Amino acid sequence: MSNASAAGRSQDFQDSQHAAIGKRSREVDDEIRYCERCGISYLWSIEEQRTRADAGAPAPEHCPGCRVLLPPPARTRGLVKWYNIRKRYGFIVRQGEPEIFVPAAALQGARFLQTGDLVEFSLGQNQEGPIAQDVILLQRDEALLDKPR
Ligand SMILES: [Zn+2]
Repeated sequence: MSNASAAGRSQDFQDSQHAAIGKRSREVDDEIRYCERCGISYLWSIEEQRTRADAGAPAPEHCPGCRVLLPPPARTRGLVKWYNIRKRYGFIVRQGEPEIFVPAAALQGARFLQTGDLVEFSLGQNQEGPIAQDVILLQRDEALLDKPR
């Protein structure tokens, strides 16, 4: 334990020396990065850099908040405009994009959708245009279930 902390102190000393000299070939230091989506700055800590390097992963492009909010690569999110349970299809809307057809066969987990559902999906294509695939329900406003018709 004492050996390890002594080594740590020695490493800290070397780090500060290197920092004083200038840029090291292999930079390992807390780094301020800027989110590609929202533009805010965030800290990319030494610990996270080491964890990522061990996993062979590249530097993050987004701040921690956007990493939670954004869908995974190749996935997209939208709201259900309407869904007809009897006809077994509906439409999903996204901001600034055309609405997307969603057939019942594309649903993963949920048996049906309803207006206002937040869903995540992949974009596919059929003869008539784009369709939603591998649709998962992220959030449903339960209050809407009790809405009188
Ligand atoms: Zn962000």
